[in-house]
Amino acid sequence: MQHFSADSLILRAVDRGDNDQLLTVLTADYGRFYAILKGAHSMRRREAVATEPFAWSSVEYYEKGGVKWIKSASTIEAFAGLRYDLEKPFLAAYFCEVATELSDERQPAGDILPLVLNALHMLHMGKGENALIKGAFEMRAACIGGFTPELHTCRHCHTPVTGNGYLDVMNGAFVCQGCLQKKEALRPIPEVDELGGRNVLCPLSPGSATALRYVVEADAKRLFSFRITDEREKEEFSRAAECYLLHHLERGFQGLENLKKLEAITKKK
Ligand SMILES: [Zn+2]
Repeated sequence: MQHFSADSLILRAVDRGDNDQLLTVLTADYGRFYAILKGAHSMRRREAVATEPFAWSSVEYYEKGGVKWIKSASTIEAFAGLRYDLEKPFLAAYFCEVATELSDERQPAGDILPLVLNALHMLHMGKGENALIKGAFEMRAACIGGFTPELHTCRHCHTPVTGNGYLDVMNGAFVCQGCLQKKEALRPIPEVDELGGRNVLCPLSPGSATALRYVVEADAKRLFSFRITDEREKEEFSRAAECYLLHHLERGFQGLENLKKLEAITKKK
């Protein structure tokens, strides 16, 4: 039997039988893996908190018969602040799903672990706007996934980005208004479409383009230190970041779908 311990982010917990849970965890050195927690529903409260989704905990494991089991766990940071809000648990679940997608077993977690921890910390502290935390996380996660866009110059005419234009999602590039109009004269270009479209263009004004460029390039510790005050620019930033990540990862996420359902309900009221 092999013992080891690792600081672990609990990405997901699924019931297994009456009293056990199968946890998906992410660690810096060992990457993402599954571990079984025995007696999950009869644990003392302090230990239960350490093994709940989104908790960052110091965990002792043992490995037997090719299966990892949890021996003990203590909370480093429970991110309690994100549990007292309607939207934040869905956002946290979405971030953890993306982290699951961008990590592997037996491979160090790399930059995705600090990114998701920082994003959870921001939600927990309640300092930034949820929409901006989400957008920054999405664009940065896409970069970690290997899809860093080039947003300094127009993809076609190579002039620096100063005016209005579009994020050319599939090409990871910026297209200026002038070049799009020239192309439109030759053949019609579909507008921003839903998932699955070939030509996906998200409108950007100078402010939203600057914000996207910031989150692509910022030092990891400063990633969430930006603001967008203009409502239209905020909307553009959010749409572009979400669209960019979903198209490049080529899948949807349950946490995001739940978030959209919640938004639809709260808008109706
Ligand atoms: Zn151009």
